Amino acid sequence: AGKQQTMEFQAEVKQLLDIVINSLYTDREIFLRELVSNAADALEKLRYRTITDKEVADPDLPLEITIEVNEQDKTLTISDTGIGMTMDELVENLGTIARSGSKAFLQQLAEADKKDLNLIGQFGVGFYSAFMVAKKVRVLTRSFAPGAEGCQWVSDGLGSYSIEQVQDLTRGTKIILELKDDAGEFASPDTIKRIIKRYSNFVPFPIIMGGEKINTVQAIWVRNKNEIKDEEYTEFYKFIANAFDEPFYRLHFSADAPLAINALLFVPQENLERFGFGKTEPGVSLYCRKVMLQQNAEGLLPEWLRFVKGVVDSEDIPINISRETMQDSALVARLRKVLTGRFLKFLGEQAKSDPDKYSEFWKKFGIFLKEGAASDFAHSKDIAPLLRFESSKSEPGKYISLDDYLGRMPEKQKHIYYINGPTREIIEAGPYLEAFKARDLEVIYTHEPVDDFVLTNLAQYKDKKLVSADQSELDLPEIEKDDNKDNDTGAGEAKLEGMELKNLLAFIKQALGDKVSEVRESKRLVDSPAVLINMDDGMTSSMQRVMQALHK
Ligand code: ADP
Ligand code: MG
Repeated sequence: AGKQQTMEFQAEVKQLLDIVINSLYTDREIFLRELVSNAADALEKLRYRTITDKEVADPDLPLEITIEVNEQDKTLTISDTGIGMTMDELVENLGTIARSGSKAFLQQLAEADKKDLNLIGQFGVGFYSAFMVAKKVRVLTRSFAPGAEGCQWVSDGLGSYSIEQVQDLTRGTKIILELKDDAGEFASPDTIKRIIKRYSNFVPFPIIMGGEKINTVQAIWVRNKNEIKDEEYTEFYKFIANAFDEPFYRLHFSADAPLAINALLFVPQENLERFGFGKTEPGVSLYCRKVMLQQNAEGLLPEWLRFVKGVVDSEDIPINISRETMQDSALVARLRKVLTGRFLKFLGEQAKSDPDKYSEFWKKFGIFLKEGAASDFAHSKDIAPLLRFESSKSEPGKYISLDDYLGRMPEKQKHIYYINGPTREIIEAGPYLEAFKARDLEVIYTHEPVDDFVLTNLAQYKDKKLVSADQSELDLPEIEKDDNKDNDTGAGEAKLEGMELKNLLAFIKQALGDKVSEVRESKRLVDSPAVLINMDDGMTSSMQRVMQALHK
């Protein structure tokens, strides 16, 4: 062995370690994610070197991560056969903070009451999180460069570290943690297994403990679509969604611009909210280079896509993005935009290629799209073509899209019409349809109050206004002359005019009193003697019923 040398940590590192060692954290277990992610990075770099460099040390070593625990001695060891470090690299990487701006960050961290360790990691200092659980950290490492010397780094995190050369190391890095007295749990194999499953299950290298591989599932989302079997997708889906069946839809895609993304998204067979299971939690996890940053991350997709399960991997997301930062990160907002756009496009493709299957999807999950169309201004336009409705021209139980409607709309018709009612029968028995039937105009039937919020919120579709059939001003085209004859009920052509009409209207108004705001001559009725219409253009009558119920 060479001679030992004691070195001072850089001032920023000292400051950081002081916080790491002396603060209380609830989520200390993330140190393991950091060390495993460093090991995976080192293996990834080595894999790259074996392609670009002719020679690497110990070429036959398998690329893997090994974890050993000793419950008696309270030690935890994480080894990898990755790229390793030379003496200079050790000093550089584990003694200084290279990134600029860390001072201001440290200042802020020092002043914060609740210290967010995830934020510490954002500055490329995840390694130091080991000192949350360890009173002493030993790093044994040998670089991949043929002929490089092995070396050791040891520190208690209290201001200095020592380094020396050591013989007989193989390629890679071994990190030995002497656990703090209150961190003994991290010497338990079960605890380690649980944490690995939680954060590092999809690390693309085997993680071995006690001779067994403990990360069970591969990062299939980064693999080539054409090489993945359906069963593998299903296996993976079952694992991440805790499901027992196959997914209903599957979308696997990657993109390079505007963000580097690998995403694998699933729609489950059932919408559990329909069965009263309460509000579904977000189901898509965020990864960066196969290392999990956040399980079932909030904000990754808009809330109305909470039924989607899956993973999103983006190397553009900082590895230690915190839950708080997720919410308002501009990067995550961009990610959300790309993911949402791609998913809606996918649904559009599905609707086109297999309309029956899409109808099935719509029956179960349409409510979420309606929620999006009614509440998410950024996406409602893109959701609109995916909406489905029954109409006066659809078969009962079958759906039409707004594009179907436009496609068969006569030229003289100005608007898209819809009417709300609990069932087709009730709508068709009511007086509102007469004027449309007489003119052979299609009317969309909406059966749930939310539909009216959706259509009111959209206001128009491809330049055509969406108009509720119970509105006062319908602006319908003239009825053709001979149609008029057919619809004549035989009650007589005689039409009230002048004073006669005025007196009748006044009489009815007097009889109804405050129940109506106005009584007037109708141009829309064909068979019925009278109809109630809605004077409020901003709200359909079914929306008014909802509002009244809410304010009771
Ligand atoms: P980051 O991983 O964000 O760079 P860390 O504090 O986790 O920050 O690690 C600092 C550096 O130490 C890494 O960039 C890497 O160069 C080096 N390092 C840490 N762990 C290993 C390892 N297992 N093998 C090789 N190098 C490592
Ligand atoms: Mg790291």
